[in-house]
This record gives sequence, structure tokens and C-alpha cells, in this order.
Amino acid sequence: MEASFILSAAKPDQFIKTDLPEICFAGRSNVGKSSMINKILNRKKLVKVGNTPGKTRLINFFNVDSKYIFTDLPGYGYAAVSKAERAAWGRLIEYYFAKRENLALCILLLDIRRIPNDDDMKMIAAMRSRNVPLISVLTKADKLSNNQRPKQIKLISEKSGIGIDNLITFSALTGQGKEQIWQEIEKISTY
Ligand code: GDP
Repeated sequence: MEASFILSAAKPDQFIKTDLPEICFAGRSNVGKSSMINKILNRKKLVKVGNTPGKTRLINFFNVDSKYIFTDLPGYGYAAVSKAERAAWGRLIEYYFAKRENLALCILLLDIRRIPNDDDMKMIAAMRSRNVPLISVLTKADKLSNNQRPKQIKLISEKSGIGIDNLITFSALTGQGKEQIWQEIEKISTY
């Protein structure tokens, strides 16, 4: 697999123009989004892990095998961000979901240990504003015991309204869930 960084966009007019199907990834800062993207692309440092939370206000575009575009949306929910910055972030995201015609799949990352909060619920609503499949990847699964995991998955499903079939348990440490994520991505071409 060949994956390469294309560009970072701070404004809509910088979004790349392409007909390739696009998969977007979103989640709270520190949820493990960079780690997950690197893991599923078999790359150690394509996306920088452990960036200062909230510092990234850019949408990063990647070309994956000249078959898909992966879009890394900026992490949200970092308390120290100013109101103005938060508003700018909101406008960029709103525009992205309203206008991105090649969008084919939305992947929301949620920490398996936490119940989705208001910011997560807003992101789910933004993703649902489009008639595009939405799945959620529950990150850091290695941090829970085999016993705890199913209980937590059930609670997250209830709160988020995302059916259990559309939740994928994932760990960047063990690679658990990687194949399932690819199965969902590969379904795109059959829509
Ligand atoms: P991002 O801000 O959402 O891009 O999150 P990062 O990928 O930078 O990860 C945030 C922190 O969580 C880092 O310290 C990662 O090493 C850690 N992390 C990410 N994924 C996992 C995981 O699956 N398991 C564990 N134990 N730690 C993880």
C-alpha cells in the first residue's frame, strides 16, 4: 500500500479537487486518531502522534493507493482553545460536510473508556447531515479488560445512537480492529 500526504488546508478554497472517494476521520484531541491512521496504513509517522492537543486547526489530506482520499479532520474538545478559534473550526467543519461531494464514509473515533460528550454528539450530527455511512472506531481497547469492553461498547452505542454493528473496537498497540476498518472502507466501491 502506498500512502502519501497531499496537503493541509486551513480554508475551504485549499481543499483538494478530486473525484476519488473520500473517507474522513474525526475525534476529540488525544483520542488516538493519528495512531489509528498510521496503524491502518502501516506507517509509523505519516501522521504526527501526540501533537499538542488543539494546536492542529488544519484538515490534512492523504492519497491512499490513488484509490481513496483520507481526510484527517482537526481534533476537537480542547478546553484551552479561544472562542474565536472554536468558531473558525466550526465553520470549517460545517463547510466540509456541506460541500465535500466525494465524501463516501465518515469514521468517528471515540475513546472506548469514555461516554461520548456534547462535542462528540455535535460531530455525529455533522456527519449525519450527509447521506453517507457513519461508523465509529472505539480506540485504546487495550486499556480495558475483556470483561469491561462489552459493557462499555453497549453504553457508547446507547449514547451515540450508533448501532453496535457500526462500532469497531480498535487498538493501535495490538492492531485489533484493523481488518474490520478496511472491510468498511472497501465496501465503498460497492455502493
Ligand atoms: P490524536 O490526538 O487523536 O491524534 O491522538 P494520538 O494518536 O496522538 O494519541 C494520543 C495518545 O494516546 C498518544 O500518547 C498515543 O500513544 C496514545 N494512544 C493512541 N492509540 C492508543 C492505543 O490504541 N492504545 C494505547 N494504550 N494508547 C494509545
